[in-house]
Amino acid sequence: MKIRNFLFVVALASSSLALGSAAAADTGATNAPFWTGMTDPARFERTMDGRIDHARSLLATLLNVKGARSIANTLRPYDDILLELDAVSSQAQLIQSVHPDERMRQTAEKISQKASALATDLSLNRGVFDALSALDVSHADAETRYYMTRTLRDFRLAGVDKDEATRKRIKELRDELVLIGQEFDRNIRTDLRTVTVANASELEGLPQDFVSRHKPDAKGAITLTIDYPDSLPVLSFAKNEGLRKRMYLEYNNRGYPKNMEVLDKMIARRAELAKLIGYSSWADYITADKMVGSAAQASTFIDRVVAASGPKAMREYETILKRKQQDVPGATVVNAWERTFYAELVRQSSYDFDSQSVRPYFAFDRVKQGLFDVTSKLFGVSYRPVRNVPVWDKSVEAYELVENGRVIGRFYLDMHPRKDKYNHAAEFPIRTGVAGRQIPEASLICNLPGGDPDDPGLMTHDDVETFFHEFGHLVHALVSGRHQWIGIGGISTEQDFVEAPSQMLEEWTRDTNTLQTFARQYQTNEAIPTALVARMRRASEFGKALNVRQQMVYAKLSLSIYDRDPKSVDTTAMVKDLVGKYLPTPYVEGTHFQTSFGHLDGYSAVYYTYMWSLVIAKDMFSQFDAGNLLAPGVAAKYRNAVLAPGGSKPAATLVTDFLGRPFGFKAWESWLNAE
Ligand SMILES: [Zn+2]
Repeated sequence: MKIRNFLFVVALASSSLALGSAAAADTGATNAPFWTGMTDPARFERTMDGRIDHARSLLATLLNVKGARSIANTLRPYDDILLELDAVSSQAQLIQSVHPDERMRQTAEKISQKASALATDLSLNRGVFDALSALDVSHADAETRYYMTRTLRDFRLAGVDKDEATRKRIKELRDELVLIGQEFDRNIRTDLRTVTVANASELEGLPQDFVSRHKPDAKGAITLTIDYPDSLPVLSFAKNEGLRKRMYLEYNNRGYPKNMEVLDKMIARRAELAKLIGYSSWADYITADKMVGSAAQASTFIDRVVAASGPKAMREYETILKRKQQDVPGATVVNAWERTFYAELVRQSSYDFDSQSVRPYFAFDRVKQGLFDVTSKLFGVSYRPVRNVPVWDKSVEAYELVENGRVIGRFYLDMHPRKDKYNHAAEFPIRTGVAGRQIPEASLICNLPGGDPDDPGLMTHDDVETFFHEFGHLVHALVSGRHQWIGIGGISTEQDFVEAPSQMLEEWTRDTNTLQTFARQYQTNEAIPTALVARMRRASEFGKALNVRQQMVYAKLSLSIYDRDPKSVDTTAMVKDLVGKYLPTPYVEGTHFQTSFGHLDGYSAVYYTYMWSLVIAKDMFSQFDAGNLLAPGVAAKYRNAVLAPGGSKPAATLVTDFLGRPFGFKAWESWLNAE
């Protein structure tokens, strides 16, 4: 997942408008770590307010130009405003999601609101739009020309050409949507519901390290959270069906009931906003600047994926049901809280693969080092741990990205669960790099095992994939930070392309040669056996189509709640309907997964993005030599053609530059159908 800077949402500029930090823009390169000096909420707020003030004064300068418009007197100050907004909004969004001090998180939310208000003002400012429109860039370089075209389009999409009353209402709605989104996220993050286990015997089937991490209290009861390190093992391995069902129900009610109303409000306000700008629905509006182009095309894409995955998904379901019938003779249905558990048993019996068996090869620290080594080779960079860099929590690690002896970026790893911390896995931007001005900074916020000196942090293969996935975003953000304009730097590409580099990097976790460079048994140092990797790969083919169908429930829900009259939207009824259509496991009454589906805020209608990006990722990956995935040639070409350009060209062009042709479905289809 990639956290998108709200500027994208406002200006629709593109996907991850990674905007950067950097202090007063006229002091030259500003490469200090972003958290320097932020010792308390007041300091943080003052620093961020200083940036916002600077942005406002740049805005005044831009508007007050007398005489002819030039790149220097118009586009430069405009881009410098974005540079300030990028820093403020990215950093506030990160801090409100991860800081252990509640006062700091509240301050960050306030700062986000201010930055967003300014971004909205800017996007609706007719004077700025007229000034940029008057600029002649016909003799400028290609990047600058593309930047201008995209910027003017984004202004129109923001509603700048509407009358004043309409623009006023647009602004009110945008400001309110920031608050609604924050409330939605907060209700997810702070819903600390738990599952109580009366007796340790209920944990039968769970791995030993899980059991030892969960000690009974004085009365013998054990408390489990619904965070991934607790919920995923329970759903996969707990023999006790009652426990799995309780966990499933709690997990799928995070944010409930509070977020029901918040979500309805979010849907209604977005529908109103889209109408004001001239679109029939939010889904039509939000897809207008994506690769997919329209809500209708997104829907066609989802239908195509649903159809392609049908036969295999049904075969997988029948296999899981047969396995359940061994335990429950005469069973006619597999329930949602049983699917993962029985799929795991099928992998054990039919594929001779127990997903627990690889965990001793995936201790967190080793995987981290392995990931560093692999990506260093691929992209020609190295990573240097840096101490004494100010961070928001003592567990956070800072690193420099080094190329040819030069520091070209900095990043932060916040990898393990902590109270009140964002509870999924995502790359959060911190500041976008700009050539000669500032190096990029970015962070990974995850909830992976480990982080405790007594716990080796043995990860599942899924965890390893998550780590590689998020790191794929991070590398993208860091190697695209050397453009002349911040507005086209970083991951400022179309949003439905953003998940391609991240999903592609997951491929390296499935390659025997790559795995054997780092996956070593944490006690004996034995490399992961070739035969075990082969069994793991075969086993991983099982359940894939059901997962694709599950993803399409999410994608279609995300599109559907935003493609119609909000008065007709009953989110629970829609979930129920889609589960019935796409999944053989019945909807579980009393669940409301939509209230913790954070993407409904950040990605709104475009969750299809993941599968769309995966189609592209599979095609791009087919260019690599399967026999030698670490070969540098094609990786360098990929870095230069796809990652480094950031948002300086349309994503379709980046893909064509790399493939030598537009992307197709062939590689994705053969992945889907592989058994
Ligand atoms: Zn992602």
